Amino acid sequence: MTERRFDCFSGEWRSYVTNAPEHPAAAAESGCAMCGVVSEGPGIGLRASHAEIAVLDDDDAPFLADPPPPDVADTPLTPVERAAGAFEVVVWSNDHDVILTDLSVERLARLIDVWAERFAELSARNVDYVLVLEEQLGAGRPADHPHAQIQALPEIPPRVRRSLAVARAYLQQHGRCIRCDAGAQTASSESRVVASDSRTFAFVPFAARYPYEVHVQPRRHATSLLDLSDPERMSLARLLHDVLVAYDRLFGRRAPYRLALQQAPTDDGNWLEVSHFFVEIAPSVTGPGPGRGHGADVGLARSSEWATGTYTVHVAPETAAQALRNAALS
Ligand SMILES: [Zn+2]
Ligand SMILES: [Zn+2]
Repeated sequence: MTERRFDCFSGEWRSYVTNAPEHPAAAAESGCAMCGVVSEGPGIGLRASHAEIAVLDDDDAPFLADPPPPDVADTPLTPVERAAGAFEVVVWSNDHDVILTDLSVERLARLIDVWAERFAELSARNVDYVLVLEEQLGAGRPADHPHAQIQALPEIPPRVRRSLAVARAYLQQHGRCIRCDAGAQTASSESRVVASDSRTFAFVPFAARYPYEVHVQPRRHATSLLDLSDPERMSLARLLHDVLVAYDRLFGRRAPYRLALQQAPTDDGNWLEVSHFFVEIAPSVTGPGPGRGHGADVGLARSSEWATGTYTVHVAPETAAQALRNAALS
């Protein structure tokens, strides 16, 4: 089953994928599909200069280019749709022991170019939002080959949509982009700035959701990676590197992280003036953090849910009900 179901109570769509491996250990037993792919040459749609970075389709994804029809019939109160979209993985190393922190600034900039190429390609399709997501839960875990995930989604994720509505209201009231204004205020006070240069700055948001959460954004109003010049992409790479290295130093070990690129929606919905591109990053460290016992346990939600508010469930509701029914009767 790969389908989307509408929850009439919350007004939100949810994704169902029941053919994906249920546990990382299961994937590990069948071998790592990402090992060795980098040396085999350019991935789909990549220039030869990016040969050391491969892009693959993810066939167990919640959204597919040609999804099967839903398993159930819909009703007015229970709409169901084919899960049309795309999931890709960007593999930038054959080595399980490296994390983004280990990459040079130049290589990070190369990866940013690949993210931009895939954003351009996927946003030209009939999708409403393209999310770039990179998650490192712990170097060396056998089922966690370092990679980025690129999700081409059939709707603007609920969390993103809420932020855009707030930005739209601010624009109507003040005539300016809220992220431009708040960014200028943050940059001038410096109390929450982590690193900066003339083009980009990294800061802890005023009301951060997670301990040590950082946003990295261009100083000027750019709506996606496609708006950034080569020097601006290099600046972004340098600051991402600074933040990731800072996490390692802060926690005194290689700190796992989550990183999401929030770019303008791709639905032709006139979002450009309220979409200020930024990268959100948070360490995914369990146990006590640095300082006076402040825990930094941010491993509370999967990264896609963390970034979008969209939940992906790996058991069909009917299967769950049947299992519970059987359990109740036994
Ligand atoms: Zn691997
Ligand atoms: Zn802006």
